[in-house]
Amino acid sequence: MSDAPHKISHSTISSLHRIHKQLTELNNRINRGPRQMKASIAAIEACKAAEAEAQATLKQAKMACDKKQLQLKEREQRVIDLKGKLNTAASNREFQTFKEQIAADEQANGVLSDEILEAFDQIERLTQELQHRSAELKQREDDQASLQSEVDARMAEANVELQSVMAELTEAEQQLPDDAVDIYQRLIRSQGEDGLAPVEGQSCGNCGATFAPQTLNRLMLSHFICCPTCGAILYMTADSSIE
Ligand SMILES: [Zn+2]
Repeated sequence: MSDAPHKISHSTISSLHRIHKQLTELNNRINRGPRQMKASIAAIEACKAAEAEAQATLKQAKMACDKKQLQLKEREQRVIDLKGKLNTAASNREFQTFKEQIAADEQANGVLSDEILEAFDQIERLTQELQHRSAELKQREDDQASLQSEVDARMAEANVELQSVMAELTEAEQQLPDDAVDIYQRLIRSQGEDGLAPVEGQSCGNCGATFAPQTLNRLMLSHFICCPTCGAILYMTADSSIE
């Protein structure tokens, strides 16, 4: 598909190209809002999961510590009981056995006490971790609230701008000759703003293909010409140089 048999105003195509670029930019701005919100919501979900995990870990550590403390209490009671039994030992041998049991329990209790102290340290660390996670979540939620109003404002602004650019588009499209409308609409549908391209130097501003002198001459005479390589409707600008 190349040369349609009609002439066209390059300034009209140039205006249309500018308008379509604006539309692309506006649509990107409009689509960015929901994407940002989605990312923000995902980040909040991740923070919530991290907070729940920190909560569970802390709870587990506290339960393990409670268990150790209970165990220590029981063993300490056993030492007290054994000490009481020392006086009632029936024999020297029994007395020695009690003594050995007491020594073994006291040693085990020492180890257990150290473990409990370590568990306290761990609980303190995990409590801080949980506080950190909760603060992070709160920050994220605050950020999301301000992002939401920022996005809403930006979208409203972009939509107003979109309406005015759409009006401009309708007006510019009315300048197209009737026999160019179909090709133009089809190219815009399939290629968007890349359906229109300026001639830069002696090449297509869209795909970079270089044109033959006769093509350039015909462009100079305002012929309607599509780039043979990418199909874009071509227009001349101040940067188009014809030898
Ligand atoms: Zn091209």
